Amino acid sequence: MMMTQSNTGCPICNGFESLCASCPQCGDWYDDRGRYFDDFAAYSPYDSIDELKQAQPFSMNYLHLCPHHLYCSQCGSEEIRYIHEIYM
Ligand SMILES: [Zn+2]
Ligand SMILES: [Zn+2]
Repeated sequence: MMMTQSNTGCPICNGFESLCASCPQCGDWYDDRGRYFDDFAAYSPYDSIDELKQAQPFSMNYLHLCPHHLYCSQCGSEEIRYIHEIYM
């Protein structure tokens, strides 16, 4: 997914890097459940992501941070990790 309106992008979302983070509770690897917007979309299946961005503008867009939702399938721990976007 390329961002045409910006010259920065998240290296994880664009497939340049994979997110490796371990769970502080049990030490297992976190699953990257993707950009946090995806969760909002899951709860509102009839709205597009673009509509959600307009309705709920995230300051992270301005800061060029991509919020990733990390989830541990072993113990259920979860965390939002902000990934710095890079110049494309
Ligand atoms: Zn991302
Ligand atoms: Zn865990």
